[in-house]
Amino acid sequence: MSIQNELKSRYNLNSQPNIIAVTKTFPMDIVKPLIEHGHTHYGENKVQEAVTKWTDIKKNNKNLRLHMIGKLQTNKVKYVVPLFDYIHSLDNIKLAEKIAHEQKKKDKRLKIFIQVNIGEESQKSGVSEFELGEFYNQCINNFGLDIVGLMCIPPAKEDMNGYFSLMSELGKKLDLKQLSMGMSSDYLQAANHGATFIRIGSKIFGNRS
Ligand SMILES: *Cc1c(COP(=O)(O)O)cnc(C)c1O
Repeated sequence: MSIQNELKSRYNLNSQPNIIAVTKTFPMDIVKPLIEHGHTHYGENKVQEAVTKWTDIKKNNKNLRLHMIGKLQTNKVKYVVPLFDYIHSLDNIKLAEKIAHEQKKKDKRLKIFIQVNIGEESQKSGVSEFELGEFYNQCINNFGLDIVGLMCIPPAKEDMNGYFSLMSELGKKLDLKQLSMGMSSDYLQAANHGATFIRIGSKIFGNRS
């Protein structure tokens, strides 16, 4: 069953989330049929790989939207702003400042998600839920970023419902419309908690080697 049909039949959703096809590690000859089919949203987690794979294809397909979903170093921002349309991994103020600086230079504004460390895991990136309000205010007031929503990668365990429901609450508190959550293993739960973007790799393209 397709992801879209599964979402439709499992839950009585008012609106279906956008599917970001996560193409990291997959060569473009595997991705191209999906582009030709008309799919819009694609995700990559490494800047250099994305530049190599997507620069030409994006020039020739103006309706494609590219999402940076991986950890982003400030020295790579200059490559991200021209190529990508969304950043899902804003997690520190230095990065916010750098994005603002590059956007001004290139006269382009990306749509940005703040990554929340929803499980408060020391090894994971993301802003703590307790610092989120202050962080959001700084992004808006000091840097004028277009913050559209929140993103998370929850701890790997069986039941994600608690994390997804907390994400939904945090988003509502800040009046943010978009929620980027849910991957191949948990997108149904994420959708049920109001995800507007789900990020799917292996369920579409198969296992990554
Ligand atoms: C790789 C990746 C995904 C997709 O993972 P799958 O389990 O293959 O669906 C989603 N989000 C992020 C941030 C990723 O790095």
